[in-house]
Amino acid sequence: MHMGISIATGDITCDGSCAIVNAANSSLMGGGGVDGAIHRAGGRTILDECRLIRSERYPDGLPTGQAVATTAGSMPSRYVIHTVGPIYPGCGTRCDDLLGECYTNSLKVACELGCGSIAFPAISTGIYGFPRERAARVAYKAVCSFLDREKSEIKVIFVFHSAADRQLFEQAVEGV
Ligand code: ADP
Repeated sequence: MHMGISIATGDITCDGSCAIVNAANSSLMGGGGVDGAIHRAGGRTILDECRLIRSERYPDGLPTGQAVATTAGSMPSRYVIHTVGPIYPGCGTRCDDLLGECYTNSLKVACELGCGSIAFPAISTGIYGFPRERAARVAYKAVCSFLDREKSEIKVIFVFHSAADRQLFEQAVEGV
């Protein structure tokens, strides 16, 4: 495992990293899965900030692979970075690239905000149906490339909702 990366099991809304990443949808208006959990735990202020981002910067919605930040409301982290994962299998030949961009662009935003740590959920592997092992390899490669290329010291945590998902990730990235 890359030195800048660690793995945890649990609820990402309780993670104390500077930034936590939300697997949002392009509307930024909340949804199910981790998105719903983040909006519930963080409170109304996150939705208000998302509305503002929509009206000022993304009237047609946040494109897949892009990332934007809000505060984290009442959660222990400082920021939520909202990114939109690709929907599988409709993403076709661009699935891996788009998923990789979610990780890279979220890391860029976190670094711009001066964060020393960031926690990621397994983007697109829930409602969006991306195969988990393939997603694990794409996520891990994108994060390693960013850390090495940028010589970044940001600490990255992958947070899995279940021990089984965590184990699957660990096996998938072995030898990557
Ligand atoms: P997507 O629409 O991008 O697939 P989901 O929220 O449906 O997003 O699922 C993404 C991943 O987040 C899934 O692997 C799911 O198990 C996980 N997940 C759901 N809730 C939480 C949570 N509170 N903390 C961490 N991971 C979560």
